Amino acid sequence: MTVPRGSTTRHVKTRGLVSFFSALLKGKKGGFSHFVHKLVSNQQLCHRRLDSQRILTPEGGERERDGSGAPGGGAPGGGALRLHGSARPGASQLKPSDFDYLKVVGKGSFGKVLLARHRGSGGYFAVKVLQKQVILRRKEQRHVMVERSVLLKGLRHPFLVGLHFSFQTPNTLYFVLDYVNGGELFYHLQREGSFPEPRAAFYAAEMASALGYLHSLNIVYRDVKPENILLDGEGHVMLTDFGLCKEGVAIGGTMKTFCGTPEYLAPEVLRGLSYSPTVDWWGLGSVLFEMLYGLPPFYSHSKVEMFEKILYAPLELRGGVSPAARSLLGGLLERDCSKRLGRNEDFAELQGHRFFASINWDDLLARKVTPPFIPNVAGPCDVRYIDPVFTLQPVPASVGLSDRGQGGGTFPGFSYMPPAECAAA
Ligand code: ATP
Ligand code: MG
Repeated sequence: MTVPRGSTTRHVKTRGLVSFFSALLKGKKGGFSHFVHKLVSNQQLCHRRLDSQRILTPEGGERERDGSGAPGGGAPGGGALRLHGSARPGASQLKPSDFDYLKVVGKGSFGKVLLARHRGSGGYFAVKVLQKQVILRRKEQRHVMVERSVLLKGLRHPFLVGLHFSFQTPNTLYFVLDYVNGGELFYHLQREGSFPEPRAAFYAAEMASALGYLHSLNIVYRDVKPENILLDGEGHVMLTDFGLCKEGVAIGGTMKTFCGTPEYLAPEVLRGLSYSPTVDWWGLGSVLFEMLYGLPPFYSHSKVEMFEKILYAPLELRGGVSPAARSLLGGLLERDCSKRLGRNEDFAELQGHRFFASINWDDLLARKVTPPFIPNVAGPCDVRYIDPVFTLQPVPASVGLSDRGQGGGTFPGFSYMPPAECAAA
């Protein structure tokens, strides 16, 4: 989802690159991520094939829950399914009709995200529904399984959306996630134009904390953009969407897979070079820039121009923003990733930056810092911060049905039920 923004023209420096992107982008209405995904599949750069048997056995321990329904104490309305010891059903027993699907709350590249209530427990969840045919047509099984695998990696962090279950029918895959209803960061940013520095610092700090945590597990998030950053009902950041994450990349290590979103793409990704966890610090810099200035740093209405600008245009740090903020932006948006802030000590380097001087990192992680903006949500069904472009869409009747169609094949090991959770009997 992108808003029209102002344009600038710049001298074209790389004919080859520009025509390459022009050709790829031609006729791809709203499909940049399709293009990126396609490129990834075609280039076969996702060289580390995830073995489905390995996915069957969640690494790092399966996600254990405390029954609160959300990391760090719970998103409002996020209804945990209660623990019922050995009486729990297997994942294969979960079916679409176990949920009432109430609203469409988002749309991604492969399907919709719906607010749903679990019939047995009454808990509210976000259910991401993906059509197997679409995934198979785009040869995207790997990304979907990566998303599932990453969500299962025992991730427990107060600013990361958690996966409760995944299950499948012949045609469809379902992810059952914490439901987060304070709206996309992008939604709030669009309405307010930009944020005051303390507000931007708070969001950037919570994002940095989540990214640092992922990096500590050798996971690179790679898709930092305002649409993937949600606010929960208390106003804390929640990172969602793990489809583009890359597992197994240690700090100091590199990888070579072209993924991302144009506004926030790091130059090394654009150039097809090997890259490291510092791509996420570039992404964070881009989002922080947008929070402070109202537009991404190298924005142009033309994607081709935007690529050029990311590669070559000098970073313009206009006035109206503190020297500390400009210094942090300069450090994060450093083209040379061997000089970028975070290259050595990762998250710790950001924590020590003076822009974050007012942040108490222990309190932040404990969710003790009062968010600068508290969404005014009446309850889990309150969708006032979700774009009506989604909520006004009818809920497709098919999502609640256990289809029997031709099917898109089986995704072995996709279905999942954590040991610490089960449907209420
Ligand atoms: P893309 O690849 O296009 O970025 P995607 O197919 O991976 O998207 P997501 O980004 O996971 O899909 O979800 C699409 C949208 O649905 C998000 O931008 C967000 O607005 C909404 N959404 C996702 N997860 C949740 C959640 N847990 N709670 C509430 N809304 C959510
Ligand atoms: Mg997304």
